[in-house]
Amino acid sequence: MTKRYFLIAMTAVLVAACCKAPQVSEEEAASPVDTMLLKNFCPKVVDNVPVTYVKRAKFDIIDMHSHDYVANAEEIAQWCKNMDEVGVLNTAIMHCSWIGRPFEEVVELYAPYKDRFRFWCCFDYSDMSPEGIEEACALLERYHNELGAVGVGELGDKGEGDTYARPVEGKDIHIDDPRIKPLIAKAGELKMPISIHIAEPYWMYLPMDNMNDGLLNAVNWHVDTTNCYGYDKLMETFENAVRENPGTIFIACHYLNMNHDLPRLGAMLDKYPNMYIDISARVAESAHTPRTTRDFLIKYQDRVLFGTDNGMDTEMYRNIFRVLETNDEHFYMPESAYHWSLSGFGLPDEVLKKIYHDNAERILTQYK
Ligand SMILES: [Zn+2]
Repeated sequence: MTKRYFLIAMTAVLVAACCKAPQVSEEEAASPVDTMLLKNFCPKVVDNVPVTYVKRAKFDIIDMHSHDYVANAEEIAQWCKNMDEVGVLNTAIMHCSWIGRPFEEVVELYAPYKDRFRFWCCFDYSDMSPEGIEEACALLERYHNELGAVGVGELGDKGEGDTYARPVEGKDIHIDDPRIKPLIAKAGELKMPISIHIAEPYWMYLPMDNMNDGLLNAVNWHVDTTNCYGYDKLMETFENAVRENPGTIFIACHYLNMNHDLPRLGAMLDKYPNMYIDISARVAESAHTPRTTRDFLIKYQDRVLFGTDNGMDTEMYRNIFRVLETNDEHFYMPESAYHWSLSGFGLPDEVLKKIYHDNAERILTQYK
């Protein structure tokens, strides 16, 4: 379109928009709907529907996604008490990410409670030369053999590479980077699954406008892809890595950030037996489509892992149990930033047991 025709077309659109503007009466203009901000919408449910408080999970839990949230040993003791109260046997402490202390210190701090926690370490990208990667492989082996690391993670790529990594960020190092193939192979050889956070929920990539269904949360986590990989490119890197390394297990955190398109996620799980997902930190992104998500979790019950990724508060765990275990409808959760309400999945016992415990146990002990 030439500039002139573009201007004519835009003028026509604006005129049409002005002509169509609804006539607002004085009475209507005074309505709260005209002045209230969506971010202040805080509805109280009035429906007389079942409200279930799940104090303790129906089956013992292995939490496959958490971090070093504590300040000291006392807080670890409190965390263990909370875990006892809600039914969590064991929690994964993912070392990579922006919080926490050096890996050796994590292991030392949690040592008195080592039966209750499992440690996951990072890839070391300090030296990306072939010799450096060889050293990083040796370090991974040492972490596994001497410090008890059971897996690698949480790797995190939101477009700029594995920026969760420590001691150095893996800037521009994506999971299908040929340079790190020896590290991925070493993880497979050591039977250490790789837990990886790829991209963000889809709404975070859409325009921040009145058609963005996830706007209230998306606006806080909006991803600017101007100078980095976008959603589909990141998914491609992940799929390349999973396909090219069949001897290594990959756990895609947070439903691979694909809650909006579970058929696409299911197709990937169908294709790659070495791929798993964890359900951590995606309560609100899954429980607004409870029937579709329920069907998905039942169909892929052997490939789904429980995770929290959200501190150690007992109510945090219980909110997740409510979604997984009950048929409660139309409720809100305090930590959910979205405007929509949630409903429970009412998962069958045998599925719950696998997601809570059995799948994780199988992955972590299958070759031991
Ligand atoms: Zn995490």
